[in-house]
Amino acid sequence: MPKPISSNPTLTSEKLAQIPLHFLDFAKKPEIKDWMVGIRRKIHENPELGFEEFETSKLIRAELDKMGIHYKYPVAVTGVVAFVGTGGPPFVAIRADMDALAMEEAVEWEHKSKVPGKMHACGHDAHVAMLLGAANMLQERRHDLQGTVVLIFQPAEEGGGGAKKMLDAGALENVQAIFGLHVSSAYPIGAVAARPGPILAANGFFEAVINGKGGHAAIPQLTIDPILTASNVILNLQHLVSREADPLDSQVISVTKFQAGGAFNVIPDSVTIGGTFRAFSKESFSQLMQRIEEVITKQASVQRCNATVIFNTDERPFYPVTTNNEVLHEYFRKVAGDMLGVQNILEKKPLMGAEDFSFYTEAIPGYFYFLGMKNESQGKFESGHSPYYRINEDALPYGAALHASLATSYLLENPLKHTNAEGMFEDEPERSFHDEL
Ligand SMILES: [Zn+2]
Ligand SMILES: [Zn+2]
Repeated sequence: MPKPISSNPTLTSEKLAQIPLHFLDFAKKPEIKDWMVGIRRKIHENPELGFEEFETSKLIRAELDKMGIHYKYPVAVTGVVAFVGTGGPPFVAIRADMDALAMEEAVEWEHKSKVPGKMHACGHDAHVAMLLGAANMLQERRHDLQGTVVLIFQPAEEGGGGAKKMLDAGALENVQAIFGLHVSSAYPIGAVAARPGPILAANGFFEAVINGKGGHAAIPQLTIDPILTASNVILNLQHLVSREADPLDSQVISVTKFQAGGAFNVIPDSVTIGGTFRAFSKESFSQLMQRIEEVITKQASVQRCNATVIFNTDERPFYPVTTNNEVLHEYFRKVAGDMLGVQNILEKKPLMGAEDFSFYTEAIPGYFYFLGMKNESQGKFESGHSPYYRINEDALPYGAALHASLATSYLLENPLKHTNAEGMFEDEPERSFHDEL
């Protein structure tokens, strides 16, 4: 349990409340903000897809080297795990994802993507810059850290499940809690949004090949038409959520891919369809998965076709539900409230979007929140994955300061427990936090 703040005479609640404000002031200083903006723009110009973030990772390591921060590399191909603080327990982690998307940037500006067909349209360039900003501030204050902050720079959030590979490589070994953020154009700059419990859905992808018998479009009786079969399959898939799921249990199936044929007068041999399914519990998710397979294969056979369904989890692993720890929620409200004011801590409704941060929250207590960047006076900020996506760079100091504050305060409030002669846990000897922070 966190030690009551009042029991530590050197660490009053007022002093603790000043940490977030101090970090925000620090992060807003031109030398820190402009440096973060520079990093973000450099990464933006050279976007790299999942597990190919070699230059991004190199840039991160170069900055960590300059700051004298120790790290492990490679972790999960391009990932970097850095350590700031005592080097010993307790450990708390903060995380950024590094990958871009396979799409063309449509924003005309000085630092537009230089790589055709690739773009940072989800803000992961900003996430890296903010985590480096936090690293910088934490390193400045390393003597005040009452444990170790683990900085996780992970590859392949966009479908590749880089978080799972980081976990499998031991990136969260001995770590007690992890915090992560995502920039959001839905909330104003200077505000954050989150909720306790499930916040993002579990996500899976499926693909099916429906085989019939091709032939002349004018003589359908000699063919087995896979296009009509696939059309029926898709209609039937839409009945799973509307007729089989509890209306109060959110689920989605979207068929997003339909590929077949090439001529106006030929019935093709086969059709490939594919899509995504989402749910907010493990049970609903596996039920959906099972029914997708049944509906596709059985509906296909009703119409004399054969179908095979693949989920291809090697390439696109299922993402679990992202669940925010209830205790960390109260803790987040306190730290973010001290920095931004309680009126700027907004409640986020659960979203059917998915995040591979979920692998971390499945393994240890975790907390994921959204960082506002909307500012009407700077024009419209499009939502993620739009070719017109822009980052409000004024959000960078807020993200960096939140990362640094959450980690620092967490270590202060969760001191290492020692066992005494009777085998009972007792608190660490008193620790102090320097007055200037
Ligand atoms: Zn994304
Ligand atoms: Zn993202």
